Amino acid sequence: MALERILIANRGEIALRALRTIQEMGKKAIVVYSTADKDALYVRYADAAICIGNPRSSDSYLNIPAIISAAEISEADAIFPGYGFLSENRNFVEICEKEGIKFIGPGVQPMYLMSDKSKAKSVMKNAGVPVIPGSDGAVANAEAAKKLAAEIGYPVILKAAAGGGGRGMRVVEREEDIEKNFWAAESEALTAFGDGTMYMEKYITSPRHVEVQIIADDYGNVLHIGERDCSMQRRHQKLIEESPAVVLDDETRQKLHEVAVKATKAIGYSGAGTFEFLYDQAERKFYFIEMNTRLQVEHCVSEMVSGVDIIELMIRVAEGEKLPPQESIKISGHAIECRITAEDPKSFTPNPGKITKFIAPGGRNVRFDSHIYEGYSVPPYYDSMIGKLIVYDKDRERAIAKMKVALDELVIQGIKTTRDFHLMMMDSEDFKHGRYDTNYLSRHY
Ligand code: ADP
Repeated sequence: MALERILIANRGEIALRALRTIQEMGKKAIVVYSTADKDALYVRYADAAICIGNPRSSDSYLNIPAIISAAEISEADAIFPGYGFLSENRNFVEICEKEGIKFIGPGVQPMYLMSDKSKAKSVMKNAGVPVIPGSDGAVANAEAAKKLAAEIGYPVILKAAAGGGGRGMRVVEREEDIEKNFWAAESEALTAFGDGTMYMEKYITSPRHVEVQIIADDYGNVLHIGERDCSMQRRHQKLIEESPAVVLDDETRQKLHEVAVKATKAIGYSGAGTFEFLYDQAERKFYFIEMNTRLQVEHCVSEMVSGVDIIELMIRVAEGEKLPPQESIKISGHAIECRITAEDPKSFTPNPGKITKFIAPGGRNVRFDSHIYEGYSVPPYYDSMIGKLIVYDKDRERAIAKMKVALDELVIQGIKTTRDFHLMMMDSEDFKHGRYDTNYLSRHY
């Protein structure tokens, strides 16, 4: 079934990114926006734009009745959810289905299986995917956590089953610290996700974060679009991503891809998704940590190395098309992405406000996915990411060199941004030689 009018239930760079593909495919792009986003570019470029409420996310981008009404008024036949907001909300998916609006993403069942991270681990373990040793399901309280930690051995990590964005996680080194960390993580998870369920696993001290991009159709065909390395993180949040993951040898890489494809089939998945793993460099072993049942921020590096438009594939799959064979996906070269946020480059404190001057970088294989422009005001209500700078070149060394040139060209004035942090990283010998793990920044800065 061809989808002609697609409503984008999101904002910021991803709304603009999705709008472009939808229009390039000859379809109509409908956007919804909060009053804080009335001057956004995607509102200007859309085929129809509907204001859905006040700045607060709960009044707008999380406001299901308002979004469904907007879809009905604008005669949208599908909704593209992007990442964050309602992208992993099963209630929303069910309502879309009931209203006869196609949700461009997986069905409710696989989303449910992967929604609780501790449950997802059990499902994956049963499917033969390696997982990190830890609790079998949830850990009821601090006492139970203590008992289990003694069995698996310190350090351990307490994680919120409903967690995301690096929140509700605590590393515990010693038994005497379990109790306070359990309560702290639990209350953080309750506040952030409305669910304080905790689970525990062995803390891997020096891992790399590697993940596999997959896409599946309704006929059981699953493709992988290579892997990404997202190890450069601050407080468990990704800052720099790249593809391919050069820490993997070819054999491990192939195994990783195979495992991700097998796992996708095991849960009857359809649409785009990402399997996240921690890779133990010393042991050359990888372990599943979670699956994201949506498009990810860093999908662009996979697009650059494969030449595939992942959002286009998502739409085609939602239209009931069959995926091409795996052999049609050819991965070459190297891509890097730097997330540019409206934050102080030293303290990472948010710094929203008006952009008084803006010059975008350019050149061959330089891509700046961003919704900002000169005169645009970054609203204080949402995530502070204002753009993603992505470069592609024949190998990692050249990609780093290209990223430096592109970052040098990027001018954003009026607000503080993390551009200078990224420039520093591109100059760092450790980054150049791949001498880092997910804890690099917490150790060095
Ligand atoms: P979120 O859903 O909040 O993104 P993840 O489970 O994906 O949480 O983990 C995010 C990051 O936290 C990982 O990339 C890694 O840096 C760190 N992390 C998570 N689990 C472990 C672990 N068992 N050992 C070491 N680091 C971990």
